[in-house]
Amino acid sequence: MQEQFERMVLLNPGPVVTSERVRKALLRGDICHREEEFSRILKRVRQMLLEAFVPGHGYTSAIFTSSGTAAMEASIASSIEVGRAVLVINNGVYGERFSRMASIYGHRKFELIYDWRELPDLNEIEKTLKEHQEIQVIALVHHETSTGLINPVREIGEIAKRYGKVFLLDSISGLGGEELNLEECKVDLCVGSANKCIQGLPGLSFVLIKKGEIERLKNIPPRSMYLHIPTLWESQEKNTVPFTPAIPIFYALEVALEELLEEGVEGRIARYKTAAEILRSGCREMGLRFYLPEELLSNTITTLYLPKGFDYQSLHDRLKEKGFVIYAGQERLKGEIFRVANMGALTRRDLESFLDCLSKIVVRPSATSKHIACDLGSHVASPHSDFGMRASECVIQPSALSLPQSAIRNPQTTLRAIILAAGLGKRLMPLTSQKPKCLIEIGGKTLLDRYLESLKECSITDVTFVLGHLKEMILPRLKEAEAQFKIHYIVNKNYTRGSITSLWEARKITLDGHGDVLIMDADVLFHPALLKRLIDSPKKSCFLLEEHFTDTGEEMKLFVKGERVVAISKKNFFDACGATAKTPLVGEGVGFLKLAGEHYPQLKKILDDFIKEGRLDVEYEEALNRLLSYCEVGYERVDDLPWIEIDFEEDIKRAERDILPILER
Ligand SMILES: *Cc1c(COP(=O)(O)O)cnc(C)c1O
Repeated sequence: MQEQFERMVLLNPGPVVTSERVRKALLRGDICHREEEFSRILKRVRQMLLEAFVPGHGYTSAIFTSSGTAAMEASIASSIEVGRAVLVINNGVYGERFSRMASIYGHRKFELIYDWRELPDLNEIEKTLKEHQEIQVIALVHHETSTGLINPVREIGEIAKRYGKVFLLDSISGLGGEELNLEECKVDLCVGSANKCIQGLPGLSFVLIKKGEIERLKNIPPRSMYLHIPTLWESQEKNTVPFTPAIPIFYALEVALEELLEEGVEGRIARYKTAAEILRSGCREMGLRFYLPEELLSNTITTLYLPKGFDYQSLHDRLKEKGFVIYAGQERLKGEIFRVANMGALTRRDLESFLDCLSKIVVRPSATSKHIACDLGSHVASPHSDFGMRASECVIQPSALSLPQSAIRNPQTTLRAIILAAGLGKRLMPLTSQKPKCLIEIGGKTLLDRYLESLKECSITDVTFVLGHLKEMILPRLKEAEAQFKIHYIVNKNYTRGSITSLWEARKITLDGHGDVLIMDADVLFHPALLKRLIDSPKKSCFLLEEHFTDTGEEMKLFVKGERVVAISKKNFFDACGATAKTPLVGEGVGFLKLAGEHYPQLKKILDDFIKEGRLDVEYEEALNRLLSYCEVGYERVDDLPWIEIDFEEDIKRAERDILPILER
C-alpha cells in the first residue's frame, strides 16, 4: 500500500498547494503524445498561456518537460550569437543561476552583482552597455524568489530597447503573481513554470517568445539538443513535440490555466496581494523582522529573520508538525532567515491558522513584563523553549541579529594569510630594481621579517606568498621560515601587470569553505596589534580603516555606510561607485583584508571575470570593490595604532622618523 499524503499547507515558493480539480486532472488516462488527443491539449495550453500573459498577438511559446531551470537554461543556450555577450544582472540566487549558466555555455559574460537587498543601478547598466557593444542579451530575474525582491523590469526593458538589446526575463515566480506587461516592458524572452503562481504541478516550464525573436534564434547554431528553443517551437507550432512530454502534467496545466483564466490574472494577483498583507501584518505583530525593506517586497514571498534563539530546522519542524511547510534561506541566508510564500490555492483560514501557530511558537503570551520580555540576550535557546518576547513590546534589535552567530571567532576555524609580494614597486625605483619591496630594511630589519614576527605573534602559521619580481632573493629567507610556518609558494608570471594578477593566482589556494583568509600587501610597516585587531574583529569580513589621512589621490580609500564598507577606491566616492546619496564616511584602508571563507568563492569568481575580460592591469582593489556590493564587509578603526605603507622613498624616511619609535616603544 502506498503512502498517502494529507493536505499540507505549502508555504514554500513552489510546488504549491493545487486545487482538487488540478490534482484530479492527472488521472485522465493514458494517451500517446503522437496522437491528436495530445495535440489538442498542447494547442490549448499554448493558447491559454498567451491569453493569460500576453493577450496581444505578438508572442509565441515553447513548452519544456522540465522544471523552470531548464527553460532558463534553454534561453541562455539559444539566445546568444557566437562572439556576442550576455549581461547578467545578479541580486539573488536566480540571477546567480543565470550567471553560472552563461559560464557553463562559455558565453562571454558581463555581470553586475548587487547586494540581495539592493535594486540594480540603472546608470551602471547603461554604462556597461555603452562600454561593451558586444553585449547582445540582458538577463534579469523579475521576482528574486530567494528574497522576495521585485526588480525594475520596465526600466531595464526600456534601456534594453534603447540600446537594441535582447531582453531575457526569468519570471518563473512572477507570472500570475505580479503585474507584468511583456509588451510594454519590451521583454523578448520570458521564462515561466507550471508550478508556482499558475498553480499547476511541477514538471513543465515554458518560454514566451516575442514573434520576431524566434527568427533570430533560428539562425544561431544549437548548443544543446534538448534545451533548444527553436527545436521545441518548430514542432509545437505543428501541434506536436520532439520528445516525450510529461503528459499528465499537461493535463494538470490545462486545468490550472483554465482556473487562472476564470479567476483572471488580475484577480489572482489581487488574491496573492491580500494573502501577503495578512501574513505580513501577522508577522509584524509578532515582532518578527523583515529581511527586505517593504517597498521592495513582492506579492508572494515574505522573508523574515529567524527569531533569536531559533534555528531554522527547529522552527520548520515545529510548524510542520502542525501541517505548515515553510522554506529555508538559500546560500548566504541559510541559518539567518526563513521564507513564507503565499502562492497556491491557500485559503484565508490556512493563513490565519499558520499565523496562530507561528505566534504560539515565537511569542510567549504570558511574558507581559517588559523585564522578561526584552531579556533576549540571556535567553537560552532550545528547540522547545518558547521565545521570550512579546510582540508589541520588544522588536528584535537589528544589531543583535545582524551580528553573525560566529561573532566570536571560533578558535577551530583556520585563518590563513596570503601575502602579496610579487610587484615591481615602481614608485620606489631605483631602490626596488635592486631588491623587492618586502626586503627593504627599516630600522635594520626587513619588512618581511617584521611580517613573519607579527604573524607568529597572532598564531598564524599557514602562509601563502605570491612572488614575482626578484623572487629568488626572497626564497632563501622563506626557506628558513619553513621551520616555523607552513609556507605555500605561488609564482605570478604576470607580476609586471596589475596587482589583480597576484590575487588571481592566489585563488588557487583552495579553502575548505570555512577557513577565513587574510589578504595582505607586503609593504606596510605596522604594529602587531593592528593585525590582532583585524583578526579579533567580530566582523566576518573586515578591513582596517584610518580616519585621519591626507587624500593625495594615491591612498586606497574606504567608503563606509553604517557598519559596512560600500566601496574601496583611490578615486572619490562618486567615481568609485556612482553614488549620489550623502557622502559616507571616508578613511584610508590599510591594505589588509580579512575575508570570511564563505565570501571567498565570490571573490574568486569576480577575479576570474576580470581576467576573462582581459583586465590584467588593474589593481586588485577593483575586484574587492565589486565584491563589496555582494558581500557584507565591515571595518575596524586603527587611528590609535602606528602604521605606514611604503610606497615612495619619502615613506621610508617617515617610517624611520615617525613610526619606528612608537613601534619599538
Ligand atoms: C523556482 C524558480 C526557478 C526554477 O527552479 P526549479 O527548481 O528549476 O523549478 C527559477 N527562477 C526563479 C526566479 C524561481 O523562483
